[in-house]
Amino acid sequence: MVFPALRFPSPLEEVSEDFLSRSGITLHLKRDDLIHEDLPGNKWRKLKYNLATARAEGATTLLTFGGAYSHHIRAVAAAGYYFDFATIGIIRGEEHLPLNPTLSYASEHGMKLSHLDRTSYRNKTDASVISSLTSTFGDFYLIPEGGGNAEGVRGAAEVVDELPLDFDYVCCSCGTGGTLAGIASGLGNTKTAIGFAALKGASGLDDDVSHFQSTAFGAPTNNWSIEHGYAFGGYAKRTDTLNSFIDRFHRRHNVRLDWVYEAKMMYGLYDLIDRGTVSRGTTIVALIAG
Ligand SMILES: *Cc1c(COP(=O)(O)O)cnc(C)c1O
Repeated sequence: MVFPALRFPSPLEEVSEDFLSRSGITLHLKRDDLIHEDLPGNKWRKLKYNLATARAEGATTLLTFGGAYSHHIRAVAAAGYYFDFATIGIIRGEEHLPLNPTLSYASEHGMKLSHLDRTSYRNKTDASVISSLTSTFGDFYLIPEGGGNAEGVRGAAEVVDELPLDFDYVCCSCGTGGTLAGIASGLGNTKTAIGFAALKGASGLDDDVSHFQSTAFGAPTNNWSIEHGYAFGGYAKRTDTLNSFIDRFHRRHNVRLDWVYEAKMMYGLYDLIDRGTVSRGTTIVALIAG
């Protein structure tokens, strides 16, 4: 086993912008993207207790699901490589060769890839699909898509314990909503979490977040909300406006925002501040989860 050096706590960096000082707002970035190159951010946090549980149960193989560009697939392959588990990635849709960078990384780090047609993929939590995977691959510890189970949400909550400052809001980007669920549960009721949906028309997302909180902590909390207006056309879609925002942010702050998730959150946050919806004296932490 090649035990990786993980960077904890991840750094906290203040963002300086004229419009922030003019509005009397303080903004910090929680740089979870710097935890580890291959095990970044919320993907590592969501895997941590899953790996511990898998190990405790004596499992030697991890099986998980994801799209062809999934950060989660990449992180599970890395976790298997570093922590000595065999890994199986069940990928949505047909195989496209050559493999894209995400899937070639996964494959080079020992992950066995198997593609599942979109209909079966949609039913991937059905007992029949799971048992057919068991008969194909043998026993495995199953990690749901995006690491979204109780272990994953509990791990995601821990970022809150690493914020040594007084703040009002934590912002994060939402795919499955597991990260937002964990953060909101970790916050207590004097602080608020705001999620920014990276998927268009993600109408089930609010219910999913409540469900994640119930699964992991017994009940949902009412200290969070989701902004649905900053998906830029949907998951893994981008526009010129978003691209220029990423370039400008990079030039000014030397942080290259991930365009699938974090750039949309940061653009949305800037826009909310610009529209005067955040009061003077507010301190915000924006989670850069990868
Ligand atoms: C996966 C991911 C998210 C979304 O996390 P969820 O818990 O699925 O909502 C956000 N940002 C980055 C960088 C990610 O990799």
